[in-house]
Amino acid sequence: KDAVERLALGVKFDVVIVDLKMPGMDGIEIIRVLASSNFSGGVILLSAQDERVIESARNLACAHQLHVLAALSKPLQKSSLEQALVGMESAIKSHADTGNYNVDTNDLISALAREEIVTYYQPQWCIRSGKFTSVEALARWIHPQKGFIPPSVFIPIAEEDEDVINTLTYCVLEQVFQDFGQWVRNEGISLLISVNLSAISLSDIHLPEKLEALSNRYQIPCTSIVLEITESSLVKNLVASLDVLLRLRIKGFGLSIDDFGTGYSSLEQLNKIPFTELKIDRTFISGLSHSSASKAILESSIALARKLDMCVVAEGVETKEDFDVLTNLSCDVAQGFFIAKPMSLESLISF
Ligand code: C2E
Ligand code: MG
Ligand code: MG
Repeated sequence: KDAVERLALGVKFDVVIVDLKMPGMDGIEIIRVLASSNFSGGVILLSAQDERVIESARNLACAHQLHVLAALSKPLQKSSLEQALVGMESAIKSHADTGNYNVDTNDLISALAREEIVTYYQPQWCIRSGKFTSVEALARWIHPQKGFIPPSVFIPIAEEDEDVINTLTYCVLEQVFQDFGQWVRNEGISLLISVNLSAISLSDIHLPEKLEALSNRYQIPCTSIVLEITESSLVKNLVASLDVLLRLRIKGFGLSIDDFGTGYSSLEQLNKIPFTELKIDRTFISGLSHSSASKAILESSIALARKLDMCVVAEGVETKEDFDVLTNLSCDVAQGFFIAKPMSLESLISF
């Protein structure tokens, strides 16, 4: 009660440690108070409840845009508290950064014209063959004054206008084909290249022909390109997208269901769309080695993918422990900071 009163008075805290079960007011109520007062510090959840309750509380706090440093089991260990506090400064800074860019659709249109949107590549590690066999292309906005602007800021702005997101999609695709056409032809390297596609771009019925034309122009076979589509965005206009997705698949493009497990009808979409790859969302991967629930979800997703003849990619692999679990579960491909961060084409070539 004391803490809630002080928050209401505007007292600033760097970190709030919340027990989930307390007399008078439970931790979930405190999470609600922190969210409604736009608390921008770090939050550490603490409980003697079972692991899945603690994880759900973490998810709830994250959904409220709170910055959760850790969700810990009681009794509290000094080392785990220390670990939670170590990453605090940078974590809170990056949290505060989002949303302060003050850019709008017109800025983005000029940025596209001035070629400020560049493509970075994150290597993907094939666990089975023990080789780098693929990369994911990720858009970056290098703003002359504001510096680096992440896609989580500008993709939603682009998606407000069909023309803008389509321009961005082609801008990224052109760069990918240009970057790899020459490299792959000169070095004879064979790589799969994943490109993120906004579901809005799927309403253009000529998309398959346009992508095929690019692939012919740059002499990269359609089968070298995997198109990643997030499942949550697909739900909205499934019928219209299905036509385009089917023809892309028939032309040989790979289709990946991105952020798998976060949408509402994942299984229904797997049934309707001929996806070739299942990309498991990083919320199921980070802390995998400590979470029996995440492990169970991952295990059954892999079994499902095997039956449907799909490749499984785990995204957001940050630690050796999580990577080892993926290896033990025979996941096909791993992607994440533990393996390599997204990088420019020059860095990728030397990498
Ligand atoms: P995504 O497709 O799920 O991409 C993976 C995101 O996870 C990337 O963020 C990547 O930098 C980040 N990541 C990779 N490894 C790790 C890790 O180990 N830990 C953590 N915490 N993060 C990791 P990024 O580049 O900021 O992209 C965010 C999202 O923006 C992408 O999510 C994708 O949905 C969207 N996006 C990026 N480029 C494009 C694009 O060209 N077109 C469209 N439509 N969307 C794009
Ligand atoms: Mg992706
Ligand atoms: Mg993803």
